[in-house]
Amino acid sequence: MTFTTKDFQRRMERALTQAADAGLTGVLVTPGPDLVYFLGYQPTAITERITMLVLDADHDPHLIVPLLERPDAEAAPGASAVTITDWADGTDPYAATARLLDPQGRYALSDSAWAMHLLGLQNALRETRYTSITGSLPMLRAVKDADEVERLAAAGAAAYEQIIGVRFAGRTETEIGTELARLLREHGHSQVDFTVVGSGPNGANPHHEMGDRVIAEGDMVVLDFGGLKDGYGSDTTRTVHVGEPTAKEREVFEIVKRAQQAGFEAVRPGVACQEIDRAARRVIEEAGYGKDFIHRTGHGIGLTTHEPPYMVEGEQRPLVPGMCFSIEPGIYLPGRFGVRIEDIVTVTENAGRRLNNTSHELRIVA
Ligand code: ZN
Ligand code: ZN
Ligand code: ZN
Repeated sequence: MTFTTKDFQRRMERALTQAADAGLTGVLVTPGPDLVYFLGYQPTAITERITMLVLDADHDPHLIVPLLERPDAEAAPGASAVTITDWADGTDPYAATARLLDPQGRYALSDSAWAMHLLGLQNALRETRYTSITGSLPMLRAVKDADEVERLAAAGAAAYEQIIGVRFAGRTETEIGTELARLLREHGHSQVDFTVVGSGPNGANPHHEMGDRVIAEGDMVVLDFGGLKDGYGSDTTRTVHVGEPTAKEREVFEIVKRAQQAGFEAVRPGVACQEIDRAARRVIEEAGYGKDFIHRTGHGIGLTTHEPPYMVEGEQRPLVPGMCFSIEPGIYLPGRFGVRIEDIVTVTENAGRRLNNTSHELRIVA
């Protein structure tokens, strides 16, 4: 399954329409997820040599690349949708790039653009102005097309059912994490971004990745894993228990499960992102654990595993069909244990659809 020249052209047209709506001259794209989105192009190394896609309503799309990388750029899936211009070492790359810009223009620029490139352009063209692409074109990558949603669903289908079959007790977190990474690769992931294994008290730290702690009978274990499959991200969290849980552990688990469900049920077009956070948080607050839910409820996902939109208090942008994001409430009890449940959800015409569909029940592992 590959994206076609037409797909890339459609994305560039959408970007220009959204830029015009935002009162901008065009869009400047540097290597990273934005350039992958528009051209399927990722230079082998992102270096100090400037590569930039210039989208501007007044002329055809231009990709400016270092001379030595021209063959790589020409081989990119979307190369036939652009005119490629190169610059050679020893010449001024900013002067070369500036020739493609409107000297009075206002451009949206990739968030991941290097500051040195922006400063170089500002120096070459004193009157141009720049704004962040996610700030000014917030719906661009946040709203996925049907192919992208299906890739996210395929990525999300991986690994959980197998990991709960392995032995936990007596093994280190790192061993379980290594197993998870292997399963993700077995399920077609080309890149594993994270495998969190937080056992017992380590589960109470949402940023704990994994370590030498030996998992024991009686431990809650938070498993949060994801990466890229076919270019699109997966991100799943499940919390399991080694042996029979206590009543308290079950109670906390059920609250998180209900919070996750409440967040999911709040999803529909037009609802503000912050309402998803509020819906999940309300359940946890009403159960008396509000102060133990110490992070936002979710983040967007697509060509990267963390990107806008964020399901967080204060984010008033509305949900739009095609948006894909996590819903991942948690309760963290310092020194004791943590529970988090995370699914990726997409917005349909009238509700939400889960893209990773594994069970939410508290699974007992050995
Ligand atoms: Zn326990
Ligand atoms: Zn996540
Ligand atoms: Zn996660």
